[in-house]
Amino acid sequence: MKGYGMFNVGNHGWLEKEKPTAGPLDAILRPIAVAPCSSDTHVMHGGAGPKENRILGHEAVAQVVEVGNLVRKFKAGDTVVVPCCTPDWDEVSLQKKGSNNAHDSELMKSFKLVSSMDGVFAEYFKINHADANLVLLPEGVSVDAALMSVDMMSTGFYGVEMADVQFGDTVVVFGIGPVGLMAVAGARLRGAGRIIAIGTRPNCVELAKEYGATDIVSYKEGDIVEQILAMEGKVDCVIIAGGNAGSMNQALSITKPNGTIANVNFYDATESFQIPVLLWGLGMSDIKIRGGFCPGGAYRIEKMLSLIKNDRVHPEKLLNYKFEGFDKIKDAFILMDEKPRDLIKPVVHINWD
Ligand code: NAP
Ligand code: ZN
Repeated sequence: MKGYGMFNVGNHGWLEKEKPTAGPLDAILRPIAVAPCSSDTHVMHGGAGPKENRILGHEAVAQVVEVGNLVRKFKAGDTVVVPCCTPDWDEVSLQKKGSNNAHDSELMKSFKLVSSMDGVFAEYFKINHADANLVLLPEGVSVDAALMSVDMMSTGFYGVEMADVQFGDTVVVFGIGPVGLMAVAGARLRGAGRIIAIGTRPNCVELAKEYGATDIVSYKEGDIVEQILAMEGKVDCVIIAGGNAGSMNQALSITKPNGTIANVNFYDATESFQIPVLLWGLGMSDIKIRGGFCPGGAYRIEKMLSLIKNDRVHPEKLLNYKFEGFDKIKDAFILMDEKPRDLIKPVVHINWD
């Protein structure tokens, strides 16, 4: 079968692979909609270390082709929403703690697609622990909205959860790409008061306002720390969904004592944080710094889909470049890599008939 991926760091194209086979708990799926992610391009450029001959893609809505003999909830022909993070639910450490980093043994072990196995830009792909990871596409939820729930919404909302946004809090969101935009929408749902969003792309700025940003700050028009301190003083919560390693010190400079900084940005393995102790209140500030990645599994994604079904959030608005046909995955991936200024998020719809 064919899949779009990386031959090695920096080189991408169509790969030929064996069709995957299902173990007892697995499902084999055919994608009907996929979306390239900034993280796919990041991995392709070596941001997660060396990788060879790996099919990319971790955001999909798909059709079930075949299930293992222990899978109870799904059958061939079902349309399912595929979380980008698919934990091994039989691991005790994970049962105790949650759905992403809770495998004590290995950082981000639940992020299997692309990371440790072939991704969804393929004619067929495999999902482990199908009963605990997949969700039937609910009636009343569009394929596009469901597709945006599995990573963009789950990650952006996790930033909001880690930041512990409370009613009336002032929140700063670094970055208004698709992840930051979902963090803005999530902060509004959690009852934030002022939401200051940082970014410059005009259509992202428009969508940020629509999703709930009360103010926009441009990092291209002067120091963002000075701008935010002048307009608000220090804030309760900062969510970092864009920027660079320097963003952490900027976040510390604008966060109140007892406040929280939540990072979902994916740094390059070569970057480092150098934090002057004064910024962290000589170690006495009680500013919490958290960082995490997209929670997955069926329970999490059902919650995201419930918000969509009940009209609380409209993540399909992120999709502003639409492609039709499996072969167009290449164009969509290159577009994501090149990131023209008007791109928010591309989608590829695939009809196998
Ligand atoms: P994106 O589309 O590239 O958006 C990045 C945003 O950051 C843009 O709004 C950009 O502004 C802004 N930005 C750039 N430089 C900045 C600076 N110096 N200070 C403040 N803002 C700055 O990215 P995305 O697709 O939304 O993804 C955001 C990050 O999340 C990426 O690192 C991605 O790999 C990561 N991610 C993490 C997870 C996870 O599980 N933790 C999941 C998915 C993605 P402009 O408007 O000027 O472009
Ligand atoms: Zn992603």
